[in-house]
Amino acid sequence: MKTAIYPGTFDPITNGHLDIIDRALRLFDKIIIIVARNPAKSPLFTAEERVFLIEQALADIKGDAALAVEMFDGLIVDFARQRKANAIIRGLRAISDFEYELQMALVNRRLYAEVSTVFLMPHEKYTYLNSTIVKEVASFGGDISNFVPPVVELMIKKKFGR
Ligand code: ADP
Repeated sequence: MKTAIYPGTFDPITNGHLDIIDRALRLFDKIIIIVARNPAKSPLFTAEERVFLIEQALADIKGDAALAVEMFDGLIVDFARQRKANAIIRGLRAISDFEYELQMALVNRRLYAEVSTVFLMPHEKYTYLNSTIVKEVASFGGDISNFVPPVVELMIKKKFGR
């Protein structure tokens, strides 16, 4: 049984994240999506809301036992060790992601040698997408229906009082 964890802020989950989850599911038996509270990033959604949105978005694709969503605040490698996961999934969109991701991957491997970071490239149509740009477009009333699942679109509109 090969378990991977997919950590992130997911504020909120986008179609880019879903693309990565879909690809990871083809490689691993189980994917645990970990929502980091990340107060330093002043998230728009609470961690509980972000978990709810991910669960709803995943129910749209598949109500699968291979997927789980959890909140976690500590070191990702501690979570990996607890769950005997030997892979951390991260998305790579552009060179600009690379330096930070390389550093994280090497630090995590140093902290827990059993874990490897696996980078997955999303479909080209998602390489420009991140949660920040989605929130920015939505805050000005722009159409985000191509960027996020319907449940996220609805919740963002509510957040911005539209
Ligand atoms: P973090 O704060 O950990 O970067 P994010 O929610 O922004 O959390 O991203 C979580 C992971 O998902 C990261 O590996 C990021 O590169 C990846 N990711 C985010 N958006 C996309 C996208 N559009 N395509 C592919 N991967 C993505």
